[in-house]
Amino acid sequence: MCGIVGYCGQKRAANILLEGLKRLEYRGYDSAGICVGTGTDLKCVKKKGKIRVLKGIVPQDMPGTFGIGHTRWATHGEVNDINAHPHLDDSGKIAIVHNGIIENYLSLKEMLISEGYEFKTETDSEVIAHLLVDRYDGDLEKAVRETVLLLKGTFGIVAVHADEPGKMVGARNGSPLVLGIGDGEMFLASDVTAMMAYTKQVVYIEDGEVVSVDCDGFRTSDLKDREIAKQVDHIGWELEEIEKDGFTHFMEKEIHEQPESISRAIRGRLNLDTATGHLGGLNLSIKELHAIERVKIIAIGTSYYASMLGAYLMETVARIPAMAEVASEVRYKNPIVEMNTLYFVVSQSGETADTLYAMRELQRKGATVLGVCNVVGSTIARESDGGVYIHSGPEIAVASTKAFTSQVTVFYLFTLLMARMRDMSLDRGLEIAKALQNVPDQIRHIFSMGNLIRDLAIKYSWVENFLFLGRGIQYPVALEGALKLKEISYIHAEGFSSAEIKHGPIALINEKTPSVFLVPDDALRDKVISNLKEVKARGGKVIALMV
Ligand code: GLU
Repeated sequence: MCGIVGYCGQKRAANILLEGLKRLEYRGYDSAGICVGTGTDLKCVKKKGKIRVLKGIVPQDMPGTFGIGHTRWATHGEVNDINAHPHLDDSGKIAIVHNGIIENYLSLKEMLISEGYEFKTETDSEVIAHLLVDRYDGDLEKAVRETVLLLKGTFGIVAVHADEPGKMVGARNGSPLVLGIGDGEMFLASDVTAMMAYTKQVVYIEDGEVVSVDCDGFRTSDLKDREIAKQVDHIGWELEEIEKDGFTHFMEKEIHEQPESISRAIRGRLNLDTATGHLGGLNLSIKELHAIERVKIIAIGTSYYASMLGAYLMETVARIPAMAEVASEVRYKNPIVEMNTLYFVVSQSGETADTLYAMRELQRKGATVLGVCNVVGSTIARESDGGVYIHSGPEIAVASTKAFTSQVTVFYLFTLLMARMRDMSLDRGLEIAKALQNVPDQIRHIFSMGNLIRDLAIKYSWVENFLFLGRGIQYPVALEGALKLKEISYIHAEGFSSAEIKHGPIALINEKTPSVFLVPDDALRDKVISNLKEVKARGGKVIALMV
């Protein structure tokens, strides 16, 4: 799922669309395109590769004051110029951009082909353009509504019609879509970053809604064409926050933001008099918190590892049975909702489709689900029964860093709250509270070792396989370390509990497969050191992170 931007106003749309796509670049993509309405027809330019390649072939004086743009992350069909979005219907009158996957596209495609429509691309998305033209009788909004009723799967779509200049119509199901209200101009995008240079007034479009936009205003309705009144929200982030600020990459910038982002996650939430956490958004009374017998935390990817760590904390420190589960599995396993179980869903963006759908399924069965999100006003933040914002500021890099540490921080606060309501002493509570306050400085200290870390990275840059090993609370950290190495450097890496390597993975140890050991300062220290010795005894190189 990648990026969408749409514009209508007085300015040259091509420039604004290209700029918006550039802002969405961080999500990763393989091709991009724009389609601009001139008043009489639609002009489309799309290209495999980077936005700067697309920019190079878009005429500088491309006319037109409304249009749509897309960055594609191919799911159906090769990465090439033709499969890039926007897609036009045969007549060239209708153009669409689509994020997500149309699961029933094959049957729709067969139906459309039998009706005489010709397909130019291998994408699932092209069916939308043909369905729209098939349903179009002079009213794009109506055609979008009728088309959406035929689609199964996830989508955020925006459509334009050459004969309805200045108008865009959007709809969504499971993929984000946000409307931006400017001064005489309007935006539709998958992410507020695409429009933040122009407006901070936004309206979040929900699943099952259709939004019709022109320069003067917008109309939102449901799939039965019943009008829906929407609230206008204000984006709290500043434009500078979504810029690289002198760093080479967003990820580097975000790693360096951690002392501040963790401080923000803690701010106002730590009561040192009573040594407890204070989380206002939980919407649960002390009595309700006492009634909780179990906690389940649902997430995917990095958020899942933060959740594993959170569950470990809740169980070992607050003594509440807790476990983390992968949202993509929960969603499809007909989950059992147990009463007196508190559910958390964790997602940086608050839009993660599997997590969102798992949440809805749990809520449908009567569960109380709290969200741990970063993006204010995101779908999970809106639909959950309460929750905690991690307040990391925008996380632009796709590979999460500061959100992970802030999610963990929030779980520390929740654990402290629960533990201090149960049997944790004031002294122990104070110890944890003060340790939490020290984390930002400890991270600053790690930054002071930047050169050492760089030298280590260079020394091992030839390696093709890495192991990350830790136990107890460090086990999920080892899994997260392995994930990050894979995702960022394309080096194969696996994370294990260091206790588990003797049950198989030890066979992989040799001088070409180094292990990163996380050596804690707790009761498991000696155990981990003895695992480390087992690895060294087999000729394995060890990078040990000692506390
Ligand atoms: N499924 C569509 C395609 O493969 C859209 C992918 C996306 O979300 O970028 O073109």
